[in-house]
Amino acid sequence: MSKIDLVMTVPLPPLIIDGLERDFTIQKLWLADDWEALLDKIAPGVRAIAAAVPILAQDRVWPIDAAFMSRFPNLEIVANLGVGYDNIDANWAKDHNIAVTNTPDVLTEETADTAFGLMLNTVREFSAAERYLRAGKWLQQPYRLTASLKDRTLGILGLGRIGKAIACRAEGFGLKIVYHSRNKAQGVDYPYYPDVLSLARACDILMVVVPGGPETRNMIDVDVLKALGPDGILINIARGTIVDEPALIEALANRTIHAAGLDVFANEPHVPEALLALDNAVLLPHVGSASVVTRDAMSQLVVDNLVNWSKGAPLLTPV
Ligand code: NAP
Repeated sequence: MSKIDLVMTVPLPPLIIDGLERDFTIQKLWLADDWEALLDKIAPGVRAIAAAVPILAQDRVWPIDAAFMSRFPNLEIVANLGVGYDNIDANWAKDHNIAVTNTPDVLTEETADTAFGLMLNTVREFSAAERYLRAGKWLQQPYRLTASLKDRTLGILGLGRIGKAIACRAEGFGLKIVYHSRNKAQGVDYPYYPDVLSLARACDILMVVVPGGPETRNMIDVDVLKALGPDGILINIARGTIVDEPALIEALANRTIHAAGLDVFANEPHVPEALLALDNAVLLPHVGSASVVTRDAMSQLVVDNLVNWSKGAPLLTPV
């Protein structure tokens, strides 16, 4: 059986490349000197794309949008490394009978751990305290007293797979939990708020776990930050686009909110200088799912979806 032409837009893990090489001819777009010429040459034969959330490759981010997908007249599937697929125009793909797969579930617990670690770190200032120690400042005086998780309410924006796993951890820490999603979540009795503004008013720590994309763009805006208040803390583990970044920087600088913990940014991997300069922001380089075991499980799911598709077997995780 001849191999299937597949375009890989960004450098994906070796486990994916090794897993696909038997059945697919992989065109590594980021390695091409002249990617336009390469695309023109290979486009008619391409039936599959393997992609990931925007990663800079050759100074370019490759959104899998209508313009990109329409270059491949015989495209049948886009397999994404990541549960979030806001890098793909899934509606356009659906309208053109192109399947899209993602990697849900296998990263849920890891991302919830990261979210929880980021929250603890932001509230108790552990990374700032460590920098203080390393700078020899403890010799002069103890580190300042911090905010606390005690008696606080956690507002979860998006009580889906990861949101529920975060709630599970929060229960163990004795936090009160409230939430907002478009629909009430099944099987939980946490208080539900019908919109993000009322959620922000009701909580002390706002945890963002909704998908990215046009529907949630700038959902955390000036008004939500104001509603969170001067003791409020924002944690974003979802997508940078969900937060109005300039408004957040202003709120942190003016202390109209207390602090923020961010794993994701509007224009990754670029982080605004103004954010880097703030001592009440804890910043992580999009490491939510980034452990060896979890990335391997995600990679294997990308391979299994594509190999299943190549054999005409059911997709494991279509979106
Ligand atoms: P999920 O199970 O689909 O949960 C998403 C939740 O958001 C659902 O509760 C959904 O409920 C709610 N929601 C969706 N659109 C909404 C809207 N417009 N307004 C309010 N609520 C909305 O997804 P998941 O597996 O938990 O993943 C969530 C997101 O986390 C992903 O999309 C991804 O972007 C991000 N993520 C980040 C990392 C990282 O490395 N930082 C890792 C993994 C995932 P309703 O449908 O009822 O609204």
